[in-house]
Amino acid sequence: MKIYGFVRGGLDYDDDSAPARSRSSIAFLPALSVIPMIQHEGAAARPVVAIGDYVEEGMVIGRAESKGAANVHAPVPGRVLRSVLWRMSDGRTSEALVVRLGGGFAKLGKRKELFSWNGLAPSDLQRLIAERGVTQLENPGRPVAEIVAAVRAAARKTTVVATLVFDDPWLVADWAVSEERTDDIAEGLAIVIKAAGSAVAAVAVSARDRQLGARLVSSIERFGISAHLVTVRDRYPQRNSRELDYSLRLFEKKNGIEFGAIVPFSPSTLAAVYDAVRANVPLLERYVAVGGSAVKRPAVLRLRIGARIGDAIAECGGFLEEPRRIVVGSPLTGSAVSDLDVPVTKTTFAVAALTDCQIRGSVVRACINCGSCRRVCPVGLDPERLHKLALLGLYEQAKSDGALSCHGCGCCATVCPSRLPLRATIALCAANGRRA
Ligand code: SF4
Ligand code: SF4
Repeated sequence: MKIYGFVRGGLDYDDDSAPARSRSSIAFLPALSVIPMIQHEGAAARPVVAIGDYVEEGMVIGRAESKGAANVHAPVPGRVLRSVLWRMSDGRTSEALVVRLGGGFAKLGKRKELFSWNGLAPSDLQRLIAERGVTQLENPGRPVAEIVAAVRAAARKTTVVATLVFDDPWLVADWAVSEERTDDIAEGLAIVIKAAGSAVAAVAVSARDRQLGARLVSSIERFGISAHLVTVRDRYPQRNSRELDYSLRLFEKKNGIEFGAIVPFSPSTLAAVYDAVRANVPLLERYVAVGGSAVKRPAVLRLRIGARIGDAIAECGGFLEEPRRIVVGSPLTGSAVSDLDVPVTKTTFAVAALTDCQIRGSVVRACINCGSCRRVCPVGLDPERLHKLALLGLYEQAKSDGALSCHGCGCCATVCPSRLPLRATIALCAANGRRA
């Protein structure tokens, strides 16, 4: 793992234990799927099937009935064995249905039938996206139908941005989707633009992937939409809303244009919108980067929602050595889990099994006042001070020292030689500061 800090914050972050950039492979279907009724930051869906029921692939098994909730579909056909209370990787508890694989597939292996959406009204497109359970495929995982509804209701100039920004090697699954499904992503973006009543599109792309961005722009133009190609720097973090906004506003100024409000979508989310509307397929699977120095053959896998992360690691040849820490998401920002039964959800873009040497030892020591955390913080915060205020419970003080502007990039914790969990304590500070 190579890490270099920059004077104005951020890191040049590389990790050769993440899967290399290559095509995805389809994983075996799991014999048992654990399908949580909540897979993102919003509210839970209500289960609409009973224990013992047979469910078809793609059938609605959880119905969204409140704001922030998203429909949940059966990722595989089979029998509902039981309902369990499941502790999610982010610490929340959710009801989950356990389905044993069995019976025939309604979607898998069948030729995709494509449906025209040109004649549909924005509200019809929104309804289709909601019905098929499409959320953002990364945190916070807001339902896409709610995002487009909010844009339409605001009735102001808005630019829909496809974020081909790969500032973290653990975003390789999104890179693979972009390479393999460029035209689908372009059409997904055209659908979102129509559903949101917006007219402007942009593609934000990491400097080294400019060609990929240019390919997406010309594919978007097939729909009569002109898209701006905005190049962002390669160093981490560039994909956070704050940094992305900064790059886009700079582009606006330089080119004398006006983006208005900016609504970013990841390539995986736009591909899911395409599947939902064009191919009538709900959100059943996603691309996931599975790797880390403890894993034999890191790879980008196409995994069904509900597959266990243990099965995903087995698909990559299993462990080379016992992992010291397993993280769902990027090691920079993800959540550590202690259970290989944790299921892949709509927002799981990576699973990293890390060895002791990769996490540079896990013994936390006292701060040595080296100042590294201050140097890398892109927001200009003092992570060391915020960490101390959090430990003392001085949340009001932390709030006035800027804790609420921390966007959780994890740069500070990554460079800290004392292994202090700065990101986690500052997040706690921010949560308590918001309540204070
Ligand atoms: S996690 Fe927060 S405090 Fe730490 S570097 Fe990122 S923005 Fe700064
Ligand atoms: S990087 Fe860690 S050891 Fe260095 S000043 Fe920050 S908290 Fe202290």
